Amino acid sequence: MDIMQGELAIGTKFHTSYYIVKGSGDGATVMITAGIHGNETASVSAAKQFVHSLQKGLLQLHKGTLIIVPLVNQQAYKKRIRGIPDLNRTFPRTAHDKPRHPLSAHLFRLADQYRPAWYIDMHEANGLSRLNPKVLGQSLLTDRRSPSVKTVRQIVKRINRSIERQATHFTVRLRELPGSGRTAAARLLQANAVTVETSWSLPHSIRVKYQKNILRQFLKRAGLMQ
Ligand SMILES: [Zn+2]
Repeated sequence: MDIMQGELAIGTKFHTSYYIVKGSGDGATVMITAGIHGNETASVSAAKQFVHSLQKGLLQLHKGTLIIVPLVNQQAYKKRIRGIPDLNRTFPRTAHDKPRHPLSAHLFRLADQYRPAWYIDMHEANGLSRLNPKVLGQSLLTDRRSPSVKTVRQIVKRINRSIERQATHFTVRLRELPGSGRTAAARLLQANAVTVETSWSLPHSIRVKYQKNILRQFLKRAGLMQ
């Protein structure tokens, strides 16, 4: 296993680290992003801990390539705000569209360079989706026509088995969000693109645990981990 650290948006005030982890064998490429929104702290903690575990050898990449950007929006994270403008509305909407922010431009260029089979974007949201169809807390989102729908349903089922309180179970939401990283990766790069949303109603440590479990599930199913 080989870990390389790079700098995204180098030379700008938005610069942030990313990591490329290569397993010993050939396999799929998975890209993980967290901290697109600066107030979604459990996603950032989970992604950072994931990188740390890989560096320490506590997690092993069996094959394939993992690209991970644990904290996309440093500026928003410093203030613990969602970010102005909302970065998740600045990604290209069509093949002829351009990103509307330097960070989404750099991030999308990285994704375009590696053409990941899976693009997992980690977020947090209000409420409990199981109790209220209008909120996104505890949900996995993908586009209706995405080939990932089956895998996403399997992962939600698997994760929910380990969650005692039904109200906090994850649900699957099928929708597009033009301008988001997920929908850009799906439409323009044909990636299996998924957004993970934990709920702010739950304790931070539990949310981090869910985020890491879900990541591991995706990496297992993509063949990167055993
Ligand atoms: Zn978010």
